Amino acid sequence: MEIPPLEISHRSPEFGDLLERTNRKLRTFMNIPDEFAVLWTHGGGHGQFSAVPLNMKALFPDVKGEYLVTGTWSAKAFREAQKFIKATCTVETHGLELDTLPPSIGISRGTDYVYLCSNETVNGLEFREDGRPLLNRAQLNGAKLVVDMSSDFMTKRVDWRLLDVAFACTSKNLGAAGANVLIVRKHLLDELEGRGSDAIPCTLDWSNYYKTDSLYNTPATFNIYIVEQVLDQAVRQHGTIERIEQISREKARMVYTFLDQSRLFRAVVSDVASRSNLNIPFWVGDHEANRSAFLKYCHEHNIVGLRTKTPFPYERNEPLRVSLYNGVDLEQVHTLVETMRKFELTCATRD
Ligand code: PMP
Repeated sequence: MEIPPLEISHRSPEFGDLLERTNRKLRTFMNIPDEFAVLWTHGGGHGQFSAVPLNMKALFPDVKGEYLVTGTWSAKAFREAQKFIKATCTVETHGLELDTLPPSIGISRGTDYVYLCSNETVNGLEFREDGRPLLNRAQLNGAKLVVDMSSDFMTKRVDWRLLDVAFACTSKNLGAAGANVLIVRKHLLDELEGRGSDAIPCTLDWSNYYKTDSLYNTPATFNIYIVEQVLDQAVRQHGTIERIEQISREKARMVYTFLDQSRLFRAVVSDVASRSNLNIPFWVGDHEANRSAFLKYCHEHNIVGLRTKTPFPYERNEPLRVSLYNGVDLEQVHTLVETMRKFELTCATRD
């Protein structure tokens, strides 16, 4: 379709083609195997915080969900799950200035699913192949693996053999805020459909999306249109997810290299293996005045977006955060690092 689907029925053949193309392109780009269904759900990431325990409860009687709480988003998902099921968390990190992901995690037998967030957007901690990898099947000990990939999906390869359920809101690397992609093993959805559940609100029930190819109610048609554009652009610009991963690592390397040698700036996460390639929280000296002066300097040099007012309270000043999503290119990262370097020099001259 050449024009955005703004005034066209989501049940029209034209939108049907767009949806089919988007799913096919996403599957190809992210190497999603046929055993998985690709569904477009409502409610963003938070929708799945509720949907995961509810659907798992329909699948497993007396379900036991184990949450790895490694930051703000997994903590929120854990609190939501506790409303509906017996959720536990063996790994729990306290506070927002987290330094590391757990180096080894053992899951007890009888756990039905393990939930984790592969990239903690606020804390800047990421499970990745070249650092702390996702749990493998032996570590899972028979449990299914559910992963919130909201902020790292489309930035690196995914080993689908390890996964049972993944989801990502579209607001980071995949498109614009408003939709959510849910990728689930089909056999789980078949089981869910067979059981039927009247305890799940209709817009959170995965089988409703599965039965209707994501057309249970009106999907976020414009957002899905944007996702197709983003996928086309990714292919044109980078070709493969492997290339995006390389660039993503390089962008992060540039920022961490600078932070680690700076006398003024400092990365919040010091454990190199746990550091996120996407979100890098950092301190500007020890005083709020430094942070404000730096933000002003950035603004004057045409750089914005380092400060987000998160809904999560910090014990002391909130660190700043660089987000290196796919929309940020190497040149922009270079400009940022040079700006930080120059700011540091102006501080040194003043002192
Ligand atoms: N998970 C992660 C990792 C996120 O970064 C976010 C949002 N930034 C969410 C979940 C929540 O997504 P939403 O706002 O779409 O509910």
